[in-house]
Amino acid sequence: MELPDNILIVGGGVFGLSTALSLSERHPNKQITLLEASPTIPNPHGSSVDTSRIIRADYSNPAYTKLAAAGIKKWRNTEWGHEGRYTENGLALVYTEGNFDSENYTRKSYENVKKLLEEEGEGSESIAEKVVYLPDKAALEKVVPRYAAGMNISGGYFNRGSGWGDAEAGVRFAKKKLDEMAKVVVRHGEVERLLFDETSSSSSSASQRRVTGAILKDTANGTTSTITADLIILATGAATGRLVDLRGIVDATGQVLAYINITDEEQAQLAHMPTILSFSTGMFIIPPRNNLLKIARHAYGYLNPSDVPVPGSSQTMRVSLPVHDLPIPAEGERACRQALREMLPAFAERPFARTRICWYSDTPTGDFLITYHPSHPNLFLATGGSGHGYKFFPVLGDQIVNALEGRLDPELQRLWKWPDQQEQREGSMEREGVKFVVTRDGSRSGKVGMILKDELARSSRL
Ligand SMILES: Cc1cc2nc3c(=O)[nH]c(=O)nc-3n(C[C@H](O)[C@H](O)[C@H](O)COP(=O)(O)OP(=O)(O)OC[C@H]3O[C@@H](n4cnc5c(N)ncnc54)[C@H](O)[C@@H]3O)c2cc1C
Repeated sequence: MELPDNILIVGGGVFGLSTALSLSERHPNKQITLLEASPTIPNPHGSSVDTSRIIRADYSNPAYTKLAAAGIKKWRNTEWGHEGRYTENGLALVYTEGNFDSENYTRKSYENVKKLLEEEGEGSESIAEKVVYLPDKAALEKVVPRYAAGMNISGGYFNRGSGWGDAEAGVRFAKKKLDEMAKVVVRHGEVERLLFDETSSSSSSASQRRVTGAILKDTANGTTSTITADLIILATGAATGRLVDLRGIVDATGQVLAYINITDEEQAQLAHMPTILSFSTGMFIIPPRNNLLKIARHAYGYLNPSDVPVPGSSQTMRVSLPVHDLPIPAEGERACRQALREMLPAFAERPFARTRICWYSDTPTGDFLITYHPSHPNLFLATGGSGHGYKFFPVLGDQIVNALEGRLDPELQRLWKWPDQQEQREGSMEREGVKFVVTRDGSRSGKVGMILKDELARSSRL
């Protein structure tokens, strides 16, 4: 498919930057603009920016295993992973007794990573050395003795070929690469709303209205500005539901993060530990960097119901959108403490230096949303990271451009398509009379549908 000349990418996180890099490499003569709301890239509030992100090919779906393995090769062997942006420390994936979803996910994932190594020509001895099955807690204790202390583990496996990335450094690197290529104009400003072609609105093609550009939010001096484009790519992460009606398709869910200051000595002791992730509790610990130890939860998360205009209409809709600079609710804090008690008891009572709610852009299946909008032929969405998009940074842009050009691998096309009505209904749950997305990809745990403001109110009464 021929792409138009004037292309606007909105969003300067993993999805937007990787798209900009691949698009400008493959289409050097197009006029490409990347627009980011934050005055800086990396955006400190962006979901792509943090101390660390797990980089694993350990997926229950072989399509993600394969793509993540291609990403890991780039992290491992190219400048993407240089200067501490990638560390290969291994990952222990574990589950607790009676949690069938997480056991199922972990077992499938174990089979997938082994199969991939076989396909890559590894011998069985080498595979057994790299991917170690952990039938019980005793086996885990042998591989990662420090972590296992109080954990209620019934099984899992350890993959030496997984690692973690410094997520702020990764974004900084991609932006630097983009600046060096000097093909993309980077602008800062927040899209208030998209502009639709009014000439088609009263015709029979009203359901196929083109977008013509975007109106930017008032600047400090009270003026507004407009950017026009022939093709708009929304890579706006968890905030995408403000610009496009994504009810039943994508919702923002808030996830808890807490950080602890550690000494030089503790840093040295923990730096080479593997990462540990329990899909049963969602809790994970990635080795620290710069004397900061992070503990986090990958769960159903908190909803932040917000009333916003339905794009292109005078009605309003209620969707979950990100909100920043809030404390974490007491229930999230307790979960982090409990996980520390189980995994690293020596740190269990140390005060948190800071906490954060970080926003996933969640879809019902946990699959990305990388596709043209069904009603707006020149509007493309590259979002739905669902808490696992970072690791694909070096390879994601190529896939997004494949999708833009209409030549995405059929399996990825199936996974990343716009869901039909039935899928939208089935992927949602009702809270406060409104339907919200629930991600049921087998990797989530905890309470479904917690409302952030209620949890914070409960915390303040404690
Ligand atoms: C707590 C947490 C832990 C995670 N852990 C992992 C992990 O271990 N491994 C992994 O692979 N992935 C992980 N992820 C997922 C991964 O980080 C995300 O999938 C990915 O970073 C999402 O990138 P993005 O570009 O969609 O979003 P973002 O990085 O949020 O970028 C979107 C950008 O769009 C901008 N924007 C939004 N609205 C507008 C607007 N109206 N106008 C202009 N600009 C706008 C925003 O300012 C933002 O900078 C995690 C995510 C979180 C939140």
